[in-house]
Amino acid sequence: MENKEIMLEQAKKYNSFYFYDERKIISAANRLKEDFKGIEFLYSLKSNPAPAIVETIFSQGFGADAASLGEVRLAKRFGLPPEKIQYSAPGKSKEDIEGALDLSTIIADSINEVSLIQEVAKERNMTAEIGIRINPNFTFFGDEGVSSKFGIDEEQVYEWIPRWRALSHIKIVGIHVHLRSQELKAQVLEAYYKRMLLLAIKFQEAIGYRLTFINMGSGLGIPYAKKELPLDTKYLGEKTSAFMKEFQEKLGGVNLILETGRYVVGESGYYITRVLDKKVSMGITFIILHNTLNGFIRPSLAQLVLHYAKENTLDGSEPLFTSKDAFQFVPLTNEKEEEEVTLMGNLCTASDVISKNIIMPKLNVGDLIAISNAGSYGAVLSPMQFSWQSPPPQLILRCDGSVVDAYN
Ligand SMILES: *Cc1c(COP(=O)(O)O)cnc(C)c1O
Repeated sequence: MENKEIMLEQAKKYNSFYFYDERKIISAANRLKEDFKGIEFLYSLKSNPAPAIVETIFSQGFGADAASLGEVRLAKRFGLPPEKIQYSAPGKSKEDIEGALDLSTIIADSINEVSLIQEVAKERNMTAEIGIRINPNFTFFGDEGVSSKFGIDEEQVYEWIPRWRALSHIKIVGIHVHLRSQELKAQVLEAYYKRMLLLAIKFQEAIGYRLTFINMGSGLGIPYAKKELPLDTKYLGEKTSAFMKEFQEKLGGVNLILETGRYVVGESGYYITRVLDKKVSMGITFIILHNTLNGFIRPSLAQLVLHYAKENTLDGSEPLFTSKDAFQFVPLTNEKEEEEVTLMGNLCTASDVISKNIIMPKLNVGDLIAISNAGSYGAVLSPMQFSWQSPPPQLILRCDGSVVDAYN
């Protein structure tokens, strides 16, 4: 286990905590930049908005994918200009638009929202350069499009373009589509990117001028289960460059954007938790851990899904559920002898279970376990107010070897 000694040192102070590795974040960001030449990346702040992490990722040249006015302001706090902050979310209020208009590029999520942005821009006597989120006529896998709460149906977009063009205080400069997270097959993403570029060309023809940006959303997956292979970003980057050459005449000069949260931070984080108690009840050995359901909810959610699931192969429902074996439980001990245990948390609910009947090296009271894949959708999704436990600190191991609070 990498960084085990450093984790153990921190565990002298805490019974549970998040541990992020800055070097891993930077290397994931670099891999994307190297493999996707000429592509702009936006970091999806909702996956992990810890300021130290945000700062690290922005310093690699990433912009921000903001899902709320709060996230727009967070990105602004780190000095990003409006063209590097894209604000895309359903159901923005007038206050959201008023707050975000000067700070970001707003992506209109509905027909009503285009009108609302026009209204605010008119009051300010400015022209708002916006994007439109589209619900395309195709799915991520190339089937016929489906109904969605996100964006505006492609057919409606073509119908409305003439009216939008006539609006006095709006200029549509880009499009945004995000259909799915956590894809590991490069060929699936490749086919999706091609459909996206064709969509952009069709949109340009309908609106009668060239777009400034095409935001193709996320989809970049990371291996969660041990048997999964990493996404072939090199292949995908080459294919993307080839598409841009192929469509050079129609799309040359456009800013092609990808968004990602999990790809840059997901694997950088572990959740460390201590064995508080151990007991045997009717033949089952229970390991009671500190703050699991409330500190890092995703392993417990996976157990809940499995408890009710009839089938063995389950679709993910990101970011709450990825797959049945998405987390590894790594003891920070030297024990070799194994036993079968059930890992539970210390909350007063029986659903605080993170793994049932697994074979692990023997654990004793006071030992620690590191849970993998805790860098994205970990701390932010967890119900830390539940049961009045203290929230786990979020620590980051800096490249210089120091360990600091990621929120300070
Ligand atoms: C959440 C979200 C993302 C990030 O998804 P990841 O799977 O973490 O990369 C990207 N774009 C949009 C619009 C999102 O809502």
